[in-house]
Amino acid sequence: MGHAFTHSAALIGLTGHILDIEADAGAGPPELHLTGLPERSVGPARDRIRAAVLNSGITWPDAQVTVSVCPDSMPVYDSAADLALAVAFLAATGHIPRERLAGTVFLGELGLNGGIRPVRGVLPAIRAAAAAGLTTVVVPGFFTEITAQTPGVVVLPATCLADVIAWLRDGTLNENAGQSTPVGVPPPTVDMADIPGSHSARRALEVCAAGGHHLFLQGDGPATMLAERLPGILPPLDAASAREVADIRSLAGRLDGIPGPGSAPPLCAPHHTSTSAAIFGSVAANRPGAVSLAHRGVLHLSDAPEFPSTVLDGLCRPMDSGEILLAGMGRSVRYPARFLLVLDARDCPCATSRGGGEPCECSPGVRRRYLGRLAAVLSRIEVRAWTEPITRPVEPGEPTSVVAARVGEARERAAVRLAETPWRTNAEIPALELRTRFPAEPEAVALLRSAVHVGVLTDAALPRLLRLAWTIADLRGAGRPAAEDAAGALDLWEG
Ligand SMILES: [Zn+2]
Repeated sequence: MGHAFTHSAALIGLTGHILDIEADAGAGPPELHLTGLPERSVGPARDRIRAAVLNSGITWPDAQVTVSVCPDSMPVYDSAADLALAVAFLAATGHIPRERLAGTVFLGELGLNGGIRPVRGVLPAIRAAAAAGLTTVVVPGFFTEITAQTPGVVVLPATCLADVIAWLRDGTLNENAGQSTPVGVPPPTVDMADIPGSHSARRALEVCAAGGHHLFLQGDGPATMLAERLPGILPPLDAASAREVADIRSLAGRLDGIPGPGSAPPLCAPHHTSTSAAIFGSVAANRPGAVSLAHRGVLHLSDAPEFPSTVLDGLCRPMDSGEILLAGMGRSVRYPARFLLVLDARDCPCATSRGGGEPCECSPGVRRRYLGRLAAVLSRIEVRAWTEPITRPVEPGEPTSVVAARVGEARERAAVRLAETPWRTNAEIPALELRTRFPAEPEAVALLRSAVHVGVLTDAALPRLLRLAWTIADLRGAGRPAAEDAAGALDLWEG
């Protein structure tokens, strides 16, 4: 009876892959065969397509139809190809013209009523379509303003199969199909001015923002308030970072605003009861976790010793490599995970439940073991600060805008220096390069060496102190770290 050909897309990790969808209709009992899908996905997909077609005003065709998906190596059918399968089926049986299908990618899960449901990973899928030279992408109606994100591709939002059929028949798509998804996310509403006092913690936060260093906050002070204000003093996302952040959010199914150039970096603060999959991601579901949602932004673990040791120790890999590799079900996926970590902890396990003023009865051993849980992560952290409760009314702190301007200038100096390198921040410079390419003043090095000599520092920690000294010098506007910057680094290192 007929043959039709179109496309959909599937994701492995953050990478979109174009699927070829082929349908063939011939004489025989009215049946729909789906091939190229994982076994257990076939039945549910066929049910969704049948119900959606019938509920879109189409009489079920009197033909035996086979629809195939290629490549068939996609390990998970996440139902985003439903719409493409239905469209190919309808074209092969003569319900819609088939010429229009060739250069188009169809994305969307079908509801039984014929509606098109949002799917995860639309943004990377659109990019894959552009890379494959396909010019039109039909997406679930939730997305209307993402066309601007991918030049060269026409993105058409649709909310139901009936609308797509009408568009393929007469070229018009229901104008009101899409709800608006705002491009850009609103700027943070919190301000550094809300944190009075806390001088050393505020200073630590500023240095971390300027150099990309990780931070450990210890004590009963406003750690969460500080962490929430860190994205506001970090430089806004550039175009490439915004694209990465948008892709990750899209794959995670976070549809509340698409970050663009100039958006504030993300903040992700998972609770200590979160599952390992929520923190690191899931290879089975192809879903990124908190470490990736914090990519190019801030990952905050509040009451860090309460997290399982698998989580605490598991953070070390992404801290070292800037990405997370997950393996399982015979495959592996890689998600970006270059975040700035803020850990906070009280002094002992009873402090989280104990009210203010009540005495602590934890033994020194218990207290040591409590913070000892953080050992692996702390060995990768450069800056420590103590926080104390805000008790009495004091002068408001410096506002975010002032702090952010200083951070921006320091980052600018580092960017000029690192222009010809793969690194963006001082925190990323390898130890060898600190000795050869970016040496500090001899007095600064001598001061840190003497700290090693008296046992305040280990040899292994020396490069981290030098990175910190560079950041302090950048904030001061100095050409290279001097003795005072090394001294400042030692202060922040010891907390
Ligand atoms: Zn205690």
